[in-house]
Amino acid sequence: MKRMFLALAVVVVFSALWLTAAFAQEVVVYSSRQEHLIKPIFDAYTEKTGVKITYTTDKEGPLLERLKAEGENTPADMLITVDAGNLWHAAQEGVLTPVESETLTKNIPAYLRDPENRWFGLSVRARTIVYNTNAVKPEELSTYEALGAPEWKGRLLLRTSKKVYNQSLVASFIAEYGEEKTEEIVKAWVANLAADPLSSDTKALEAVASGVGDVCVVNTYYLGRLLKKNPDLPLKIFWPNQEQNGVHVNVSGAGITTHAKHKDEALRLLEWLSSPEAQNLFADSNMEYPANPEVKPHESIAAWGEFKAAPINVAKYGEYQAAAVKLMDRAGYK
Ligand code: FE
Repeated sequence: MKRMFLALAVVVVFSALWLTAAFAQEVVVYSSRQEHLIKPIFDAYTEKTGVKITYTTDKEGPLLERLKAEGENTPADMLITVDAGNLWHAAQEGVLTPVESETLTKNIPAYLRDPENRWFGLSVRARTIVYNTNAVKPEELSTYEALGAPEWKGRLLLRTSKKVYNQSLVASFIAEYGEEKTEEIVKAWVANLAADPLSSDTKALEAVASGVGDVCVVNTYYLGRLLKKNPDLPLKIFWPNQEQNGVHVNVSGAGITTHAKHKDEALRLLEWLSSPEAQNLFADSNMEYPANPEVKPHESIAAWGEFKAAPINVAKYGEYQAAAVKLMDRAGYK
C-alpha cells in the first residue's frame, strides 16, 4: 500500500512538472533599446499577466547578425529596435515573420507599420529643426530644404550621414521629391555647414547652444534630455514643412521572429505594447510620441506643440536607404 502511494506521488509530481513546463509562459526579446527603457514596461506586463520576459540588449547590428547566425535555434521571440530603416532591414533578412492581428492593425496607423505586417511602430520620433533663440527668429524658418538657402551659410549643423536617422530622413526626401531634387537639397545643406557633421544629435544641439551654428536637425527627445539637465539653454523646436508634406517622423518598433518558440505569447505582448495602457509607458520612457493615435503624448512632450507629420509609410525609409547612402556620398555629406 505504502509503495503504491509512493508511485502515485511520483506520477503526480512529474505530471505537475510537465504541466508547468508546457504552460510556462515566457517571451524572449532581443532589444536594441536599452534596459532602462524596456525593463519597467516588461515588469508591468509580467505583473499583469505572469508572463516572464527574458531579454538581451545590444546594438541593432550585432542583434541582427545573431538572429541570422542562430537561425532556427534562436531563443528570441521578438526583436525590438529603433528606426524603420533597421526594422525594414531585419524583415528583408528574413528574421521577422508576418502576423495577423486586428488589435495591431487597429492600434497602429498603416503608415507606421510594415505593409506586410512583419513589424509595427510602437513609438514615434520626430526629426525636426532646433534653433538658437538668440540667433534665429522662428519666422526665418520654413522647411528642411530652405536650410540650404544662402542666408544659412555657415550656420547649419548636422549629425553624420552614417547614422541611420539621417539615412531615413534623406530616404524620405527621395520618396517625396525624387533623387535629383533630393541631391540638390543635400548639396545645399553641405554648403551651409558651420562645422563637420557631428557624431550625435546631442553634440549638434550643444554646438547650436554654444553658437558654433544656429540651427540643426535632430530627434526631439535629445532636446528633451538636454533641457532636463540644463533648462536654460537657448534652444527651441521648429516644426518645418507644415504647409507642405509635414515633419519627418520615424518609429521605434518590434516584430515577431521567424523562428519564435513562443509565437502566441510574443504576439500577445506585442498587442499589449500597442494598447493605450502600455503606449504611454513605451513612449514616455524615451520622451517620444505614442504610435497609437488614441493616446496623448506626455504633457512635457505635448508642450512642444502640435505638428503635422509626413504621412509617408516609414517602410519607404528602408526601401530607399541604399539610394540615400549613395546620394549623401555624392553630395559630400560625411
Ligand atoms: Fe536615438
